[in-house]
Amino acid sequence: MLRRTKIIATLGPATDDPKMLDKIIEAGVDVVRINMSHGSPEEHFDRCERIRNRARAHGRQVGVLADLQGPKIRIERFKNGKVDLKEGDTFIIDTKLGVNDGTAERVGTSYKQLPHDVKRGDTLLLDDGRITLWVNDANDTEVNCRVVNGGELFDRKGINRQGGGLSAPALTDKDRNDIKLAAKMQVDYLAVSFVRHADDVEEARKLLRDAGCQGGIVSKIERAECMDVVESIIDASDAIMIARGDLGVEIGDAALPPVQKRLISIARTHNRVVITATQMMESMIHSHIPTRAEVFDVANAVLDGTDAVMLSAETASGKYPDKAIAAMDRICREAEKQREVTHSDHRIDTTFLRIDEAIAMATMYSANHLHVKAIAALTESGSTVLWMSRISSGIPIYALTRSVETRRKVTLYRGVYPVSFEPTSKDHAEVNREAVDELLRRGAVRDGDLVVITKGDLMGVMGGTNAMKIVRVGELLDPNAANSN
Ligand code: PGA
Ligand code: MN
Repeated sequence: MLRRTKIIATLGPATDDPKMLDKIIEAGVDVVRINMSHGSPEEHFDRCERIRNRARAHGRQVGVLADLQGPKIRIERFKNGKVDLKEGDTFIIDTKLGVNDGTAERVGTSYKQLPHDVKRGDTLLLDDGRITLWVNDANDTEVNCRVVNGGELFDRKGINRQGGGLSAPALTDKDRNDIKLAAKMQVDYLAVSFVRHADDVEEARKLLRDAGCQGGIVSKIERAECMDVVESIIDASDAIMIARGDLGVEIGDAALPPVQKRLISIARTHNRVVITATQMMESMIHSHIPTRAEVFDVANAVLDGTDAVMLSAETASGKYPDKAIAAMDRICREAEKQREVTHSDHRIDTTFLRIDEAIAMATMYSANHLHVKAIAALTESGSTVLWMSRISSGIPIYALTRSVETRRKVTLYRGVYPVSFEPTSKDHAEVNREAVDELLRRGAVRDGDLVVITKGDLMGVMGGTNAMKIVRVGELLDPNAANSN
């Protein structure tokens, strides 16, 4: 059985060893994430080149997702690298303090707007919530706080405001430069951090297009306030990432599970792709096996209907990148056997507006109710397979396309597998035969299996899918017998 849920692995120092890069490809990585928060432009570019070269050597498609740093708000550095904060202490965040001058009394921040974004009574969460500060008072340049939960605080840790509401715009100057770099890398997806509203997504898309890249935009849902406008953000995006790290700090950890379920459901209904991210296999940074809780987390995301599960530090800087992927792989496969994710009544009472959409739905309904082995979708842009993959199913959807961009884009879609395909004929019966031959060659089907084929009258035209045909392998119509579709 093929795994339907896709695995995203963040590249980093731990995957730079060529042997490890090969191992993560063999372990089944579908998309790699290049985290622009760490590393130099040269490093990003090199990592992108190397993974594409190695994927090619393995005969695999691996998508590339570049993740912008965004306006992550951080404290600056301490004189000694860290301080120990005690409950009840006064601690000041001082926008005028030198970047290396932090002490146990005060520390700098590059976010000069901070004192204006907070007021007395607010709670600030540092280092993903490990340190809690209560805001006593704020003036033009200083936020005067009392330590509520203390502990060791290290250089450059993040600052979040409980409940959200820090006003930094989503795209920083660094992000704008990184978008140009992402375009140069011809990434398949660009992830935008700390999206506030749909305009942020539009702006990122325009910058990426202007720089000459057609990659999809992934909106990271990690700010409390974007939950109010999340449907319009989803509509403006190709995919969303449930960025549970920052989101959990802002809305509270207990709110995450229902929010994850809701976001996955909305994304699928809106025909968008969804990634579940952060701390999925956190213990595997140091351990070669996951905790039981992590096993359940990955399986539950699969049951919720996520397209992809993501690894961050587990693969970027952990000890066992390949084992983390292998663990996700086996957990996903097992979860995908559950009935609730192989059957669907999604959109059963919807009116379709487009012919290609209706064909996609009819295909999934037939595939799920007839004993079909595979779906062969001849596609140009991949939009038909996106609709198909929103429907829960256990039947593999092969995206047969001549477009390498489309093949890389679908690496993120649940249950969709890219196949390079360029028919030699324009005759429909002949094309059907070539499509099925391609699946036969890959061992995806055998004689006697049923296959659903979808395509358009005019092959190679975007959005032109208007036909569905069910064929039995080995019993294809003689091309001379009829000019069938
Ligand atoms: P990050 O985003 O890893 O870039 O912070 C993911 C998250 O916040 O969960
Ligand atoms: Mn984040």
